[in-house]
Amino acid sequence: MPTYEYFCPTCNQAVTLQMPMSQHDRGEAACPQCGGHELRPQVGTFFAKTSRKS
Ligand SMILES: [Zn+2]
Repeated sequence: MPTYEYFCPTCNQAVTLQMPMSQHDRGEAACPQCGGHELRPQVGTFFAKTSRKS
């Protein structure tokens, strides 16, 4: 199962979550500490690879 890194503005800290890719695509990630859905995906190598694709 892939691991995703997010930043939670409520907790003001980065959180790491494991979830199926399908769940991530639906934006169902929730902060494990506050349960909030305001998580912002951290820009990492996983996303950097696809950002320039035409
Ligand atoms: Zn939080």
